[in-house]
Amino acid sequence: MRKKLIGRRDFMKSSLAGFGGLFFLPQVDMKQELRVVESKGKEKKFVYRTLGKTGIKLPVINMGVMNTDNPNLVRVALDSGMVMLDTAQTYQRGQNEGMIGEVLKGRPRDSFVLATKARLPNDQKTGIYTEEATEEAFLKKVDVSLKNLGLDYIDIYYHHNVWKKESALYEPILNALEKVKKAGKARFVGITTHMNEPEVIQAAIDSKFYDVILTSYNFEQKHDAEIREAMARAAHAGIGIVGMKAIRGGSRRIPTLKNPAAALKWVLQDPNVHTLVPGFTTFEQMSVDLAVAEDPTLTDLEKKDLEKVASASGLYCQGCRQCLGQCPEHLPIPDLMRAYMYTYDYRNLTHAQDLLLSLNLPNRVCEDCTLCQVKCSIGFDVPGKIKDIVRLRDVPTEFFV
Ligand code: SF4
Ligand code: SF4
Repeated sequence: MRKKLIGRRDFMKSSLAGFGGLFFLPQVDMKQELRVVESKGKEKKFVYRTLGKTGIKLPVINMGVMNTDNPNLVRVALDSGMVMLDTAQTYQRGQNEGMIGEVLKGRPRDSFVLATKARLPNDQKTGIYTEEATEEAFLKKVDVSLKNLGLDYIDIYYHHNVWKKESALYEPILNALEKVKKAGKARFVGITTHMNEPEVIQAAIDSKFYDVILTSYNFEQKHDAEIREAMARAAHAGIGIVGMKAIRGGSRRIPTLKNPAAALKWVLQDPNVHTLVPGFTTFEQMSVDLAVAEDPTLTDLEKKDLEKVASASGLYCQGCRQCLGQCPEHLPIPDLMRAYMYTYDYRNLTHAQDLLLSLNLPNRVCEDCTLCQVKCSIGFDVPGKIKDIVRLRDVPTEFFV
């Protein structure tokens, strides 16, 4: 493939399209405990919840490490009272686990909770695993993670990025996870879902297998009520619930959401969410998140802020999959929209490019349609965003600075 020289700055100049979102607040029912923690030499009181039947007690805010390659930020997060680090083998092309491993060297093993994840080849259009998705392949990934991290065991090993019931129950991976647990390589096993979450959560409950679910959940999702109900059933079954993408739709970089902490607090209003793993890349963002661990109470002003943001334009695909059958080219539109989000919200161009390259897209994307047949449920300019984001395939990695 010929590489066009497009700089990161040039790429990021694109305009942001949007949509209006339905807003609904869950009932407030804060059953939790306060713990005094040592935070950079000072004592602070953090709100703690228990991660379901795992029994692990965690502050309500921990660290999603995906978007940072700064070991000092991870160090300070741990020294400030965060306990769980959430990563994946694919983050930063394997470097993220290695960087965390360096940070963890010399720290008492019971002072942190490490969660990582892996996925196997699957059909991007159906979410169903291909023949290459074998038990052995999954087992190898676990060993690679352990080596990258320099650990004897992982606290939570996730079956990553599942959006179909069939995949949640895919036997080779369940067999592998069972072996991993029996061998003591992981204390607990979990599943992660960014799309079609209620179906995956229900499958996890039905399986009676998974200990933890890591799910997208935020104030801007159209189907937040369904996710909330599914999470309540899962929590009732004893499954630990970790929330992600809580600030999705209200990026820390989008001026419409003046207070990103409000988005975190909105999620934590639900007592069935046991903890969150927001990604942050600066010390300032980390301080905002740490303040939420001290007081997750959502104020009336913050509620109003969120209402405004939810009804205004946004950046993010809801993962409803309504568009999947509409495109005659069978493009994996939700994945393309996810790459868009990684680029313009997370500013994680490497991850966005990896995702794009994994999708086996044709060379010409959306260029031969005179009229797009896709009607996005939230009014996204789908072909516009696709044409914008596929350019990233051609950007040399050395420009991702
Ligand atoms: S323009 Fe629309 S219909 Fe055509 S390939 Fe792109 S998404 Fe599909
Ligand atoms: S219809 Fe729109 S919101 Fe739904 S998955 Fe497709 S792009 Fe995302």
